Amino acid sequence: MEKTELKNIVILATGGTIAGKASSGTQMTGYTAGAYSVADLLAGVPELGELAHISGEQLCNIDSSSITDALLLRLAQRCNELLAQDDVDGVVITHGTDTMEETAFFLNLTVKSAKPVVLVGAMRPATAVSADGPLNIINAVKVAVDAASTGQGVLVMMNDEIYSGRDVTKTNTANVATFKAPNGGPLGFIVGGEVHYYYRSVRPHTLQSEFDVTGVGVTALPRVDIIYTHIGEDRVFVDAALAAGARGIIYAGSGMGSIHEAVEAALAEAVGCGVVVVRSSRTGSGIVAAGLERWQEQGFLYADNLNPQKARLLLQLALLRTQERNEVQEIFNRY
Ligand code: ASP
Repeated sequence: MEKTELKNIVILATGGTIAGKASSGTQMTGYTAGAYSVADLLAGVPELGELAHISGEQLCNIDSSSITDALLLRLAQRCNELLAQDDVDGVVITHGTDTMEETAFFLNLTVKSAKPVVLVGAMRPATAVSADGPLNIINAVKVAVDAASTGQGVLVMMNDEIYSGRDVTKTNTANVATFKAPNGGPLGFIVGGEVHYYYRSVRPHTLQSEFDVTGVGVTALPRVDIIYTHIGEDRVFVDAALAAGARGIIYAGSGMGSIHEAVEAALAEAVGCGVVVVRSSRTGSGIVAAGLERWQEQGFLYADNLNPQKARLLLQLALLRTQERNEVQEIFNRY
């Protein structure tokens, strides 16, 4: 392709293992994530110059396990600024894999553009023998410049597979094939350097989403806590969430969002104090439905098939718009 025909892609770097440094080529754990800069990353993949006009920007350089609500907001706002520019055709975000699914879902709901946004990371540090980062970045840029990626919502490109930011989740601590969409599957693949799509996400995203974080500061983002059930649970964490000023609680219930008997009254008290309580599941896949009539009478909502960490983000955004339980449930049914 003629250089003049190439699209303009911004690589927004946030850190992670893709920028990770270990002390040897075989060290795959215990290394430092977010050690190399975006300039280092780009220098490692000169092939990108044949795919697009690339510019790099460093938003932060951290392990994604430490991403804050403030950073998430900044990332969404920066994506929107960049995508509003005529000379930007798409954004590729390099990101740690630990919380990539959360960032991808948040951006899927808050980016206001049909232009491609693709998150990419790596499971092996940049110093590793067989590091997966360089090919993942090349593939992410290929996805970002592909016309079929327009209007697909925020995407995750990992290990030759393309996922919707809504559905993707990390399923394995170490394997390069860690990303899956347990309730569906990938939207497409890269094979032989070519992008192939087979499916679309039908849930609203980007331009169809009602959520807008323009000018929203982190203090405006409501506190939502996740409480993870287990045998022998008691009400301690519900009380702690209330004491911390939570406006929402995601209850990561057992099975189809089942609630431990010892905690139910505390959750009902939380609803009585105006806290929105949403049942999700710790199982990792499947729908959580309305469940027992008793739970519905107590005002507990349900998260459809969003896992707890994704349900938390949707509840934060929902609470920016409404406190009405019926309206929040309607948002969970729709997104
Ligand atoms: N802990 C790393 C991170 O999330 C893991 C990775 O990137 O794969 O930043």
